[in-house]
Amino acid sequence: RLQHQSEVESNARSYPRRIPLELRRAEGIHVQDSEGRWFIDCLAGAGTLALGHNHPVVLQAIRGLLDGKRPLHTLDLMTEAKDEFINELFACLPAEFARDARIQFCGPAGTDAVEAALKLVRTATGRSQMLAFHGAYHGMTQGALSLMGSLGPKQYLDGMISGVQMLPYPYGYRCPFGLGGAEGERVGLHYIENQLGDPESGVLPAAGMILETVQGEGGVIAPSADWLRGIRRITREAGVPLILDEVQCGIGRTGRLFAFEHAGITPDVLVLSKAIGGSLPLAVVVYHKDLDRWQPGAHAGTFRGNQMAMAAGAATLRLIREERLDQHAAAMGERLCAHLQALQARYPQIGEVRGRGLMLGVEIVDPQGRADAMGRAPHNRALASAVQQQCLRRGLILEVGGRHSSVLRLLPPLIITAAQVDQVADIFASALDAAVN
Ligand code: PMP
Repeated sequence: RLQHQSEVESNARSYPRRIPLELRRAEGIHVQDSEGRWFIDCLAGAGTLALGHNHPVVLQAIRGLLDGKRPLHTLDLMTEAKDEFINELFACLPAEFARDARIQFCGPAGTDAVEAALKLVRTATGRSQMLAFHGAYHGMTQGALSLMGSLGPKQYLDGMISGVQMLPYPYGYRCPFGLGGAEGERVGLHYIENQLGDPESGVLPAAGMILETVQGEGGVIAPSADWLRGIRRITREAGVPLILDEVQCGIGRTGRLFAFEHAGITPDVLVLSKAIGGSLPLAVVVYHKDLDRWQPGAHAGTFRGNQMAMAAGAATLRLIREERLDQHAAAMGERLCAHLQALQARYPQIGEVRGRGLMLGVEIVDPQGRADAMGRAPHNRALASAVQQQCLRRGLILEVGGRHSSVLRLLPPLIITAAQVDQVADIFASALDAAVN
């Protein structure tokens, strides 16, 4: 037996390197390591654990399936668990989207659902070119990687699917047009509309456009409702199916059940994973029936929709919808955001506090460094990492992300209480202070 099994694990995975804990127990928003220390988990499986760890309704749903009689594997055949999951998910979706929607189980990870969405729009349109966004994260398989904006070491390799056009995402704080705010978004939309409308741009005809309704790994960037509505109008007018990747921002996290609801739009294809499986692996695409032009068997797979994940997921979705945990997330997000903004007023090292609901990011900068043309101080990756480590010492797990690994990302379970939010903010404040001084 190896002394430290973690020493033989590949360096390709970043979480275990930055958060070198051996977890022993998990309950609610907390985890305990093998030395008995408890931590608040504001990573929560990168937003997977909407109900926190070991929520009783999730455990009950899984146990209900383990009576030794029900099927645990069915090769995607219909079961009671699957039926119930579909019903719960469709009850969460806006009625105008659910009415004409088809669902396809993919599996088991978010990246599998992205691949299915990509193949779906290419099959339905007979085109191959895709439109994607700078700073995007869609997964680690070849197709998903090709759709990903450059994110440091995660960036895509050469020779992936061809014909992907990268477009500017409305990252106002470091606006690619040097404008920021509503003006930067307006110019960005204008640019995209021109690209799609100009036959000389080499962009048309595209099989689809894919974007995260709120960018997560790319640094927690939430476009305005106007920008999203603009994207919906442009894609509709150009006849390009719009794929919204809500793998991370969906299911209540942003304060609405789906982040696109903030803009009052609906996608043509919706990609979901993470929280929908109630902590177990599950991924689906939900899309307009007009796109359902697969040949029978065109997208098969052995592990499609694990039965336990469907049961856990159905229970999770029901609880989120019935207890209005989306609204709770909105209120708790506002509270946490206010704490972080108060810190921003005291520390020039905080460039921006942003996000939506319980999907928050704090961009760490170097106030002594040379400002860019917009007057923004440079990214401060080293300090972001130091704050993360200081948080860890004080019992708070959070992740760093963003295009330059300078954004501290907070994604606590949606069940977090006001007192716990205050505790997270206190730890964060003390960690920031220690890292800065
Ligand atoms: N899309 C988004 C928006 C994500 O955040 C992620 C995972 N962080 C994925 C897709 C890929 O999901 P998975 O890691 O389960 O493959």
